[in-house]
Amino acid sequence: MRVSPEIESLVPYKPGKPIEETKRELGLDQVIKLASNENPLGPSPKALEAMKKAVDDLSRYPDPSCFQLKKELAQKWKMRSEDILIGNGSNELIDLIIRVFCEPGDRILLPEKSFIAYAVCSQAARVGKKEFPLDSRFELQFDKLIHYLENDKKSTDKILFLANPNNPTGTYLSKDKMDRLMEVTGGRDDLLVVIDEAYNEFVRCDDFPDSFEYVKKYDNILVLRTFSKVYGLAGLRVGAVVGNKLHIDWLQRVRNPFNVNSLAQAAACAAISDESYIKKSQELVWKSLDQFYKFFEEQGLDYIPSQTNFVLFDSERDGQQLFNRLMKKGLLLRPLVPYKMPTHIRMSVGLEEENKEAMKILKQTLNEVEKV
Ligand code: PMP
Repeated sequence: MRVSPEIESLVPYKPGKPIEETKRELGLDQVIKLASNENPLGPSPKALEAMKKAVDDLSRYPDPSCFQLKKELAQKWKMRSEDILIGNGSNELIDLIIRVFCEPGDRILLPEKSFIAYAVCSQAARVGKKEFPLDSRFELQFDKLIHYLENDKKSTDKILFLANPNNPTGTYLSKDKMDRLMEVTGGRDDLLVVIDEAYNEFVRCDDFPDSFEYVKKYDNILVLRTFSKVYGLAGLRVGAVVGNKLHIDWLQRVRNPFNVNSLAQAAACAAISDESYIKKSQELVWKSLDQFYKFFEEQGLDYIPSQTNFVLFDSERDGQQLFNRLMKKGLLLRPLVPYKMPTHIRMSVGLEEENKEAMKILKQTLNEVEKV
């Protein structure tokens, strides 16, 4: 059996190494994982409680429409239930959006060093990509994107993906920039703009856009959210897409019927209302990022200020080599070789003690690895 050249050359998404696997392979008792932008506090107690109750009903299929979860999200976001679709993590939704709105031979548009799932899912769907360059601080060269959209856009360009804030850079697009982008793309019937806001709840800057306003104003905007980050439910796989009812209906036709399991639905509903857990998670992230920044400054290492729960820094060492050394000492960070950033490392926020220990291990190890 042969597969297409796109499938044959597909480099699969490589997730952060799991803690148990690392312990087993290296014979370690303790591993600190700051590699996958997870919430180190564990799930909200309310979510755990809701899951325990939902266990009794596990012999039943889950609600295929995710009625209650959509209702609660609609209330929270001041949108309508029919404008929302729930997915098995936002990753499933990225894949679904590409499969529904692109045909083989089409292209997606995206900045360089965007979240890697856009490229992987498009390649799997035999869809090409056009990337837009970043500057030396990993900010999108926004004028180049606007110029292209105004002057050169091809008829095969179907979706513009923008992670805001972006993974793995932690950078963001301001309200002014997004307003400008909407002037150029809003309402177009030949191009969808997907704004992926997986890290939205960690944003601290005061010029971040309210993208639901764009959804209300224009038909061709989709916004992605996830329960994997601030809500601490990465293991359950829940994501949401918000957009025009017409587009949501197309996605609805193609998705798997029971894509979100009943424990996940129950936990997500409960997590939404756990304000104190959300606040605690945000405070931990903001305080920890400030500690990381100080640490990098002390080490003389360049970092990119982040609007997420992770920070990107330039280790000035071979990133893979540094990662391997750190792993042997029980610290898992994320080298960014797949993003063509050979010396950069991404470090997520952990618990206070984990962060302290991580900085200690990192400091030691930086001294052991030659600069490149
Ligand atoms: N979008 C971005 C920007 C991400 O960083 C991630 C997770 N790393 C996702 C989407 C996918 O999240 P999930 O599938 O867990 O909802």
